[in-house]
Amino acid sequence: ATERTALFMFFGGTGDLAYRKLYPSLFNLYKKGNLRTHFAVIGTSRQTLDDDKFRAAVKKSLADSGNRADSKEASDFISHFYYQAHDVTDQAHYSVLKDAAEKLDKKYKLQGNRIFYLSMAPQFFGTIAQDLKTQGLMSTNKDAFNRLVIEKPFGRDYDSAKQLNDALSKSFKEEQIFRIDHYLGKEMIQNIEALRFGNTLVESLWNNRYIDNIQVTLSEKLGVEERASYYDNSGALRDMVQNHIMQIVSLLAMEQPVAFTDTDIRAEKVKALRSLRVYNVADAATNFVRGQYGSINDQPDYRHEDNVPHDSTTETFVAGKLLFDNYRWSGTPFYVRTGKMLADKFTRVDVVFKKPLVDIFAFPQSQSTPLAANVLTIFVEPHAGFSLQLNAKTADAGFQTEPIKLDYMVDAAKSKETPEPYERLLHDVLKGDGTNFSSWPEVSYAWKFVDQIRRVWDLQEPQFPNYTPHSMGPAAAEELIQRDHREWIYRL
Ligand code: NAD
Repeated sequence: ATERTALFMFFGGTGDLAYRKLYPSLFNLYKKGNLRTHFAVIGTSRQTLDDDKFRAAVKKSLADSGNRADSKEASDFISHFYYQAHDVTDQAHYSVLKDAAEKLDKKYKLQGNRIFYLSMAPQFFGTIAQDLKTQGLMSTNKDAFNRLVIEKPFGRDYDSAKQLNDALSKSFKEEQIFRIDHYLGKEMIQNIEALRFGNTLVESLWNNRYIDNIQVTLSEKLGVEERASYYDNSGALRDMVQNHIMQIVSLLAMEQPVAFTDTDIRAEKVKALRSLRVYNVADAATNFVRGQYGSINDQPDYRHEDNVPHDSTTETFVAGKLLFDNYRWSGTPFYVRTGKMLADKFTRVDVVFKKPLVDIFAFPQSQSTPLAANVLTIFVEPHAGFSLQLNAKTADAGFQTEPIKLDYMVDAAKSKETPEPYERLLHDVLKGDGTNFSSWPEVSYAWKFVDQIRRVWDLQEPQFPNYTPHSMGPAAAEELIQRDHREWIYRL
């Protein structure tokens, strides 16, 4: 592995995400040699801690994620961690951070490379970005990099996202901003490009002549849990569709990039999103449906979860149809759905091919059942793999056809070697590779699409709750697809 050199500054460095994901991921990069001697970490948050207490907390976070935290390797790694209490709204505090950064830069020979990771409430992103610049925390060494990493959510509609982006871009250029969408760090989401652009068999059929429809399902088994107060202000459309689903759909829909580089891939994703039809009021109302889970046994319905208002109209389920107005996809819809408290926890993509134009096996006296559609399934999680459903002859004397499946599942030992999304994404930030991050044009097209749905929903009081826990959502999600004479491939 190539050793990389940087100072990491984690804002919100004592938060849940930092301890649960970010520090263990950095440690993995260290174990693999991507970080060695020339790196340092400053954790900063409102909490008062000293270096020792912070290091003890980092050690615990490594142990909690299954590492041997008392090894020499772990303690060497942890010795690169420093803590600085800091209220991000207090400008004076930035100069303390600046001195700490400069000291560590000298001590570890960091060449001025800086990564600012904002792992805290987005309301602070704008101020922090601005103060990083005005208070001189960004490196001025012309060979060094300054990179800003930000967590979701990126705004709550187009206007607020634009405002946030305008604030960030006063300090950072687009290529310096890394907007995390952890779905883009998942093995099988990255595999969409390999599957499409590495296989003639796949890519030559990847269009409206051969594909009938594409289905994307992000299904969660749990309810809101302890994220209720955040979730109730957001809902499934903002929390899942605007970011993760739109990113997955754009990878499925895009044209082949000129080369496998972040600039080329982004250009194609943006082109795809530009041709996504933004619905008028009537079409938004028919092409998207929402749901909220009811109660079952002694489990409360959504409205009686802790920290949820009893009259909440927040959706915990969305299903919708997306249409691209371009030569490749015109007439081939993308159906998407996501929700909480559904039958199971999984993410998958089902690509449904058109049936043969003529079914020669269906002659009048034939006993054959009609041919099934070919379906290519991409299993994203919990298990990674592909499955291709074909029609074949049954192994008996007559002539019957039946659907069979060619399956490839990544085996458990290999899956263990697969880096966690956050490890991959932090590595990409170190390399300066923006492929698996959302660019501003992508974010803005996604919001413009989603805002139209929201606008229609906000006009009408929904009839909630409307789905049974452990189902696949409300009846309306079935009607949405049945109306087009189609079915969800994954069904109960
Ligand atoms: P958290 O509430 O656990 O941590 C917030 C951190 O910010 C704490 O360290 C706190 O001390 C610090 N902080 C708050 N106000 C401050 C101020 N005025 N000045 C300085 N520090 C301040 O939050 P989290 O769960 O770690 O999430 C952080 C970000 O990551 C959020 O944007 C969240 O939406 C996003 N995110 C979190 C997860 C997750 O699994 N936790 C997943 C995806 C995205």
